Amino acid sequence: MSNITVAGTGYVGLVTGVCLAEVGHQVTCVDNNDEKINLLRQGISPIYEPGLDELIVKNTENGKLDFTTDYQSVYAHSDVIFIGVGTPENEDGSANLNYVFTVAKEIAESVEQDCLVVVKSTVPIGTNDRVEAYIKAHLKHNVKIEVASNPEFLAQGTAVRDTLYASRIVIGTESDEAKQILMDVYEPFKLPILAMNRRSAEMVKYASNDFLALKISFINDIANLCEKVGANIEDVTNGMSYDERIGNRFLNPGIGYGGSCFPKDTKALHWLAEEEGYILRTVKAAIDVNEKQKYALIKKARNDFPTFNEKKVAVLGLTFKPGTDDLREAPSIPNIRLLLNEGAHIQAFDPVGIENYKKLFPDQISYKHSIEEALEDAELCFIFTEWPEIKEMDLGLFKEKMKTPYIYDGRNCFSLYEIQNKGVNYHSIGRPSVI
Ligand code: NAD
Repeated sequence: MSNITVAGTGYVGLVTGVCLAEVGHQVTCVDNNDEKINLLRQGISPIYEPGLDELIVKNTENGKLDFTTDYQSVYAHSDVIFIGVGTPENEDGSANLNYVFTVAKEIAESVEQDCLVVVKSTVPIGTNDRVEAYIKAHLKHNVKIEVASNPEFLAQGTAVRDTLYASRIVIGTESDEAKQILMDVYEPFKLPILAMNRRSAEMVKYASNDFLALKISFINDIANLCEKVGANIEDVTNGMSYDERIGNRFLNPGIGYGGSCFPKDTKALHWLAEEEGYILRTVKAAIDVNEKQKYALIKKARNDFPTFNEKKVAVLGLTFKPGTDDLREAPSIPNIRLLLNEGAHIQAFDPVGIENYKKLFPDQISYKHSIEEALEDAELCFIFTEWPEIKEMDLGLFKEKMKTPYIYDGRNCFSLYEIQNKGVNYHSIGRPSVI
């Protein structure tokens, strides 16, 4: 088994490192954030991801997994180094590669043996070539280095399962040797491995994410039209989904995609295409629809509440999707900002997102630890995330707890059948209102 290092202990790096240890490799995870490494050394995951804590403890105890901030000593003697640091969005929409190149520099200055560097971060097409050239130009020791692309397809909330039972592993290499090393690393997973060149592998990642973003924006577009023409998006998507070419996944309408990937990956590919003199019209449309969709609920609420000033507003769900504590690009954020700017009093519930939300809005929001408390005396309620706790809540609570039960559900959490006769004024996406 290989001696593997993973740079970055975020959602991708940590899950990758832990799962590589789980299948038998010797893994060291490196991060420059002391706080994260200290927590990990105590067996505590700095991120919420189902099933992750158990695997961290198990593999640390059996000596397969280790955590450090001392990159120099581990990069020096690794067979394979995975780069899993962030590639956030620059102001112009392009991908910020500073973290990737910082790691590349650290690797170049530290490696003392031949090593394969594997870029797992989502990076624009051609970046692997640049990282390889950069490392080679800055090497301190006379060693052989090659760079391979291995994009990640996990989804937050199901990251461990998505890694251990991935639909596919994509590897992009420029030599048989690099390909063989990665095939060996992934052999214990017993999963389909798709080998190609580096640029194709980099493109698979963007094309996949942008396709999914397009699917969401398309269905949101259709949902908005359903409202205007008296159709019900639920029946429409059900009718569509029986066509195997369409399928039944990712057809849920809502208030748009968020998270750390779709928003930045759509913009980054669009930006890159423009640089090449090509306009990706479909991706641009997905971005534009999503931008508008974020405010679809507020628009509905304005029909009933011309102003939110002094209104007591319940908010259920803060994270960008269920199963994660991540708030990056969560649609709740611009909505809550707008409500606060207008003078609303917000009482919010989320099963795991509150601690992170407090970092953004420390004292402007009254955080509640139950749905009941969030609804207490509220005049209207927004649902931004479809947590199971919310989908399965007692619907009688709206009428029982709220002053005026106006519900604006951005994730279609309840069937129209179950919400009728609950004494509420209910608005969702792409479906008739229940009044
Ligand atoms: P993240 O922000 O959660 O984690 C990045 C980590 O890298 C942080 O812990 C940070 O401290 C660390 N880091 C920064 N500089 C470092 C350095 N020099 N040395 C060591 N560690 C360093 O990011 P993420 O969500 O895990 O995403 C990482 C990459 O994977 C991005 O390119 C992203 O697009 C891609 N990706 C993310 C997901 C997802 O669902 N989050 C899925 C697929 C691909």
